[in-house]
Amino acid sequence: MAARTMARFHREPTEHTTWCTRDHRCGIAEHRSADLIADAIGGRTVITRVRAGDTEYLEVRARIPLHHTETGARWQLATTLRLMRELLTAVAIRRGVLHGRTERPAIRRRAA
Ligand SMILES: [Zn+2]
Repeated sequence: MAARTMARFHREPTEHTTWCTRDHRCGIAEHRSADLIADAIGGRTVITRVRAGDTEYLEVRARIPLHHTETGARWQLATTLRLMRELLTAVAIRRGVLHGRTERPAIRRRAA
């Protein structure tokens, strides 16, 4: 009797989406959009929409040049972490975001 020494992974293929690239960026069960790129002041941020199985999410990658001093670089790291937390808070799925989009504070704000 032979013993099985390696686990087998099997994923069911899923259909392409209306927004995925339908090319090498898609896998058997993962579909990816074209990259959305924002460049500014020597840095770059890339956002990609991803569906893995029945879960969709966006993926953010950023390349931000760091200051040449340790103090400056640490400030940049801390600021990036703080702003990423704010970003997650702003775009997280919660009541009111998907249905009716009731939280739109900029609409009634008056210009100063
Ligand atoms: Zn696809």
